Amino acid sequence: MNSENPKKRIAIFGSTGSIGTQALDVIEANADKFSVEVLTAHHNDELLIKQALKFNPNLVVIVDENKYGKVKDALGSTDIKVFAGEKALEEVAAMDCYDFMLAAIVGYAGLKPTMKAIENGKAIGLANKETLVVAGDIMMRKAVENKVPVIPVDSEHSAIFQCLIGETRNRIEKVILTASGGPFIGRKPNYLVNVKREHALQHPNWNMGAKISVDSATLMNKGLEMIEAKWLFNLRPEQIQVVVHQQSIIHSMVQFEDGSIKAQMGLPDMKLPIQYALSFPKRIKNDFPRLDFRKISTLSFEEPDVKTFKNLVLAQEALNKGGNLPCVMNAANEIAVYAFLRNRINFLDMTDAIEKTMQNIAFIEKPTLEEYFESDGEARNFAADLIKL
Ligand code: NAD
Ligand code: MG
Repeated sequence: MNSENPKKRIAIFGSTGSIGTQALDVIEANADKFSVEVLTAHHNDELLIKQALKFNPNLVVIVDENKYGKVKDALGSTDIKVFAGEKALEEVAAMDCYDFMLAAIVGYAGLKPTMKAIENGKAIGLANKETLVVAGDIMMRKAVENKVPVIPVDSEHSAIFQCLIGETRNRIEKVILTASGGPFIGRKPNYLVNVKREHALQHPNWNMGAKISVDSATLMNKGLEMIEAKWLFNLRPEQIQVVVHQQSIIHSMVQFEDGSIKAQMGLPDMKLPIQYALSFPKRIKNDFPRLDFRKISTLSFEEPDVKTFKNLVLAQEALNKGGNLPCVMNAANEIAVYAFLRNRINFLDMTDAIEKTMQNIAFIEKPTLEEYFESDGEARNFAADLIKL
């Protein structure tokens, strides 16, 4: 280790997922710059053990307490500490053994540990968009209070973040979030009513976890990303536009007051925004495949079909109205996606469940963190009853 440039100590919350494993690939390729100090997993003990033996972190967390013994035994010959249970995520997030949290847990479950990390002054690389959808106002306020940078990992937001470098004094007119359209672009309700989890999990451009793959297929992912953009870049709802760009080459754009538009481009590969978040403000040389403009014949752009993909309308409403509505929408969506992934409801039922939940949970204009937790719980119960989970 170079004493002038000590390694950045990384905690990966959600290390066994799609983002987590790709982050470990990036760290492995840059072992002189980063060390892995914390790894966490929900159920996947086998992969967690493998990762721990390879990267030798300070500690690991297995959320599923039934797997504690197995992980403890497997790491018995090392000095890696093993923690278990949901509460341990928050405790570990508050520890001094790391500098930078890669928040790569999926869904609401990532909120409390990420909040703890911010309260303890840790820099955040944020993949877990749901945390900002649920409690973006409180999270960003706490980040400012604690002088904590929140660096986006989501490819669209990383693109916007990169476009804004050197533009601190210039006003944004709008951001243009690009959407691939997902695997069912061009399809109509009579087709969608019959699609099953296997179809929804096959995304044309990205290989991702199950929940975000379904969100991409329903366009809820883009809805969540609109709200994510609002909080990350302090935008008004009317400054956020979604455009379908099937090739996923332009990752998103920013239009400034003078009409000038900046775009960030590249081949679709999450390793790039992950690496950028880890190394920011520097860029690191890598050998990822390069985009060759001579080989692209078309970059297409179109309006999203909101008549078919109604989740985008619901998300727009949540974005406009604010308060606890995005939190309620997110909770209902998590329940609906869970049910769809288990073949309990069909593709279009997901939107119905989300819409009814949004209509039925009491609106709170300026929720406290406690009220966000309560709204999340109420919305989950309501949606689960509706679906008869
Ligand atoms: P994934 O399902 O592949 O992995 C999720 C990780 O979170 C796993 O390590 C799992 O063990 C952990 N986890 C799941 N439920 C948990 C719980 N209740 N408590 C604690 N840990 C839990 O998901 P992913 O695709 O890697 O996505 C992670 C986050 O990044 C999501 O918020 C997603 O929207 C966002 N994101 C992902 C991609 C992508 O390409 N995969 C792109 C942009 C943003
Ligand atoms: Mg994205």
